[in-house]
Amino acid sequence: MILIKGGKPGDVLIEDGRIVRSGKGAARADQTIDAKGLLVLPGLIDLHVHLREPGREDKETIATGAAAAVAGGFTSVAAMANSGVPCDSAVGITYVLVKSREAGLANVFPVGAVSKGLKGEELAELGRMADAGAVAFSDDGNPVMNSDLMRRALEYSRMLGKPIISHCEDAYLTRSAVMNEGRVSAELGLRGWPNAAEAAMAARDVYLAALTGGHLHVQHVSARETVDVIRRARKLGIRVTAEATPHHLTLTDECLRGYESRYKMNPPLRSKEDVEAVVEGVADGTIDAIATDHAPHTVEEKDQELAACPNGVVGLETALGVVLSVKGIPRERLIDALTAAPARILGLKSKGSLEPGADADVTIVDPKAVWTVDPSAFRSRGRSTPFEGMKLVGRAVRVVVGGRVCS
Ligand SMILES: [Zn+2]
Ligand SMILES: [Zn+2]
Repeated sequence: MILIKGGKPGDVLIEDGRIVRSGKGAARADQTIDAKGLLVLPGLIDLHVHLREPGREDKETIATGAAAAVAGGFTSVAAMANSGVPCDSAVGITYVLVKSREAGLANVFPVGAVSKGLKGEELAELGRMADAGAVAFSDDGNPVMNSDLMRRALEYSRMLGKPIISHCEDAYLTRSAVMNEGRVSAELGLRGWPNAAEAAMAARDVYLAALTGGHLHVQHVSARETVDVIRRARKLGIRVTAEATPHHLTLTDECLRGYESRYKMNPPLRSKEDVEAVVEGVADGTIDAIATDHAPHTVEEKDQELAACPNGVVGLETALGVVLSVKGIPRERLIDALTAAPARILGLKSKGSLEPGADADVTIVDPKAVWTVDPSAFRSRGRSTPFEGMKLVGRAVRVVVGGRVCS
């Protein structure tokens, strides 16, 4: 028995990997964690990370990714299928689950590919992957350009009760794009990725979700037009959920003026108006969840010039502090977006809550801890972050996963 005592909103008692009581009331326990002055939250859940194993263990492994997750306060993450070897079969799903168990840190839930080899041509074996433990399906890294394939994936979503997670990008509109298309890209002479490339695909996917009754989840919303598309779809009762990243909630394409690769990701950082719209979308619940799109690369790869370097930055170890700095979203909503909302989207029924009976995944946060982002101290193998050198307030100090104290 573990008692987490004196924190806000109340005490939490853990036994056999489950929450047995929360709120007030003294209890005797084998171990007591003093949480005075700290927030005691359901374990944070990141439904969008890239852990690179199998195939690119030089960038990240399931173990280093799970360690980075715990360091950032995350007790569960969902790993996308585009590691070095596409996760498009039951064997791939089982591999992730076994490696996650071996690491014994944050839970790593596998997301299966929508298409075989992530090629966008033939549907992968979604049913078999679901049986093996896939929590969702996505070709993330690539958009699903074939509308008929997306339609069929969403039909499976309805049958299997698992979401189709969509990277919304019309690839014909974004060829060789380096950054957001707008005033800054014009001034810098860099090729741009227009908002319309995201919003148009989100609209297509929304109508396919309406047609099929499948559950569509839109990843990394970055454009204000996409927020509008999702808001309208939800009013129509279409089954669509969405996420935003910490970087799209806080940074703009002005960051690219120094041509630094740590600001290059896909979708790109947008304009101030877009950031405001994404913040509003999270505030009013149009965008359910906050997810990092943690995407580690080697230092050598990220060190290349802007046009040549790969998209993607790490996010697991900075997300909480960055998110707590966002103005205009009530703290309750921010916490929901990092806990209950992703649990709901992924169908993790016993996670995202501290109610009795829930899995004992708990994140204890010092909301006043002031710290500076130092990538050399990351547990992740990735070092490229747009938040390098930034002073953040708020940090996870203890993390419990399934009743095991992991940090
Ligand atoms: Zn993506
Ligand atoms: Zn991604």
